[in-house]
Amino acid sequence: MVKGTPSMGKRQKRTHTVCRRCGRVSKNVHTKQCTACGFGRMKCRRDYRWKLKAKLNRK
Ligand SMILES: [Zn+2]
Repeated sequence: MVKGTPSMGKRQKRTHTVCRRCGRVSKNVHTKQCTACGFGRMKCRRDYRWKLKAKLNRK
C-alpha cells in the first residue's frame, strides 16, 4: 500500500460536493447529508459547544 505521489492518480472519486446550505464541499454524494452543517440530517444547523473556542479564534 502506498500513500505518496503514485497513488494520487487514483483519487478521482467524489464523496463530498458543494452543500447548498453552507456552501462548503461537505455534502456527501451517497448519503445526501452535509458533514459541516447537518443538511439532510437536521432542520437546524449542526453546531456544537465545543466548537465555540475555535470559532472565537477564527473571528
Ligand atoms: Zn452544509
